[in-house]
Amino acid sequence: MTIFEKIINREIPASIVYEDDLCLAFRDVNPQAPVHVLLIPRKPIASLDNLTDADTELAGHLLQTVPRVAALLGLSGGYRTVVNTGDHGGQSVFHLHIHILGGRSLGWPPG
Ligand code: AMP
Repeated sequence: MTIFEKIINREIPASIVYEDDLCLAFRDVNPQAPVHVLLIPRKPIASLDNLTDADTELAGHLLQTVPRVAALLGLSGGYRTVVNTGDHGGQSVFHLHIHILGGRSLGWPPG
């Protein structure tokens, strides 16, 4: 079980900012911007590489939830979404998550 499943199960604490039947969002413990939240599905999907046809509705819901969470967090100036995938992508927790970063102007390209 990943640490994110433990957050879903309330086995470890997290600063949860949004949740619904399919997903939840909580503040990253090591924020890289003034606002840094992770949006995750409740279903334990390891990464984008592990999405299946059964997840089409869930994947759409996750994407549509991003702007809702961004609005809740007051990110009216815009924000960055990141989905790190696999070793070269820098993924460290193998439970699918969308980083939502904002609160300052963000540089591009990433490292
Ligand atoms: P990634 O490197 O894309 O897999 O992102 C994993 C993110 O999870 C990192 O930004 C970590 O800071 C964050 N993280 C790890 N453990 C926790 C935790 N217990 N609560 C909140 N965020 C966490």
